[in-house]
Amino acid sequence: MFNEIHQKNIFEKAVNYAYNYMDNIPNRNVYPTEKAIEELSIFDEPLPEHPNDADEILRLLNEYGSPATVAQTGGRYFGFVCGGAVPASLAAKWLADVWDQNAAVYVMSPIASKLEKVCEGWLKDFFNLPKETVAGYVGGSSIATFCGLAAARYHILQKHGWDVNQKGLFDAPKLRVVLSNQAHGTVFKALSLVGVGREQMEIVPSDSQGRIDIKQVPELDSSTILILQAGNVNSGAFDDFALCDEANKVGAWVHIDGAFGLWAAASRKLANLTKDIEKADSWSVDGHKTLNTPYDSGVIMCRHREALVSAMHQSGAYLEPSGQRDGMFFTPDMSRRARSVELWATLKYLGRSGVEALVDGMCERASFFASELAKSGFRVLNDVVFNQVLVACDTPEETLSTLRNIQSSGITWCNGSSWMGEPVIRVSVSSWGTTFEDIKVSVNAFIDARESKI
Ligand SMILES: *Cc1c(COP(=O)(O)O)cnc(C)c1O
Repeated sequence: MFNEIHQKNIFEKAVNYAYNYMDNIPNRNVYPTEKAIEELSIFDEPLPEHPNDADEILRLLNEYGSPATVAQTGGRYFGFVCGGAVPASLAAKWLADVWDQNAAVYVMSPIASKLEKVCEGWLKDFFNLPKETVAGYVGGSSIATFCGLAAARYHILQKHGWDVNQKGLFDAPKLRVVLSNQAHGTVFKALSLVGVGREQMEIVPSDSQGRIDIKQVPELDSSTILILQAGNVNSGAFDDFALCDEANKVGAWVHIDGAFGLWAAASRKLANLTKDIEKADSWSVDGHKTLNTPYDSGVIMCRHREALVSAMHQSGAYLEPSGQRDGMFFTPDMSRRARSVELWATLKYLGRSGVEALVDGMCERASFFASELAKSGFRVLNDVVFNQVLVACDTPEETLSTLRNIQSSGITWCNGSSWMGEPVIRVSVSSWGTTFEDIKVSVNAFIDARESKI
């Protein structure tokens, strides 16, 4: 049975199932039907005692797994900020999956190491970051932010004569953390992972769009980590990065959470949104959202190599630094898949102008979505500066019932959120595959959902 891995027929089967999935994406329910979800019970069985047929395993996935997927690679999924997958990027990942490389160190995979290095250079160039910036490739912005904050913690404490790797956090000099009340939930999680509790954070109010209120930012000093945001997860708003000047003057560290918004830097039209980002110390960004690489693809970029590498430090007798790029020195994990492959493929495929077209296209579609909804009597609660639209009906009850109807319609899918104390329907245009036609169909679904016709 273990020879099966060398038999191409199961791979052919997987490819055929995959093609079938791709072809049917435009016609299928955006969210799985109740029946598809109920039938997932087929997977509830005891751990198999004996080997099973590989064909049968693929058949089960195709027959029961595929209908219970969320069609986020199609054009009418607007939930969370998910992004689809650019085909060239997905195809590159398929190939790399067959390679099954471990990107921990150079000797495990020269190709993974090479593409990490190439992407590091390209990203630096793309976001116009300082030349000393280094990059680590992780599963997403949650981990990227964790890495940035760990580097910041190491750096600041080191400056104050405290080696946190040796002495730990107990009795360490005081570290200040300043962030807005609109910081993403994963930022609070990352802070707790690096040993900062809620009561230690200096939380700054935000304005009507969810931007940090610069007038209320406390005085910064050389013990401060200031966390800013490029792309509010609800409104899409960007903080004012001119705050970096203040931070740089006193030696505070600035981390920018740019999970989906940092890509605004691609667009000449949106250049004002990311103005001054290059003055920060570390940045987290995702490939798998705006850039539309497949999951999971996040990057930590840091201008202080020593701080990031020291914070992620690992040693072992069998781990001689190679003199080449050893990816694990920039990330918390050791074994990792070669996720630089699809990041490289996406940037190579799109080029600078392609990323600009992708980003501008999302923003144009989001604005179109917003204006069509407004024409149909919905309230749009945010300034649509990027890809996010916050929508409400006349009353909170109507908003919630409309949302429920949208979610069960199968035609489109959005999730709910709350904005300035009011329930909202949150629309995130983040797939390369979304067309204006998809938006027209979805707006009609919103109208029918409000009138409970679907
Ligand atoms: C999605 C998101 C994150 C978390 O990123 P993951 O890739 O899901 O780990 C952090 N911050 C913002 C603003 C986000 O939109």
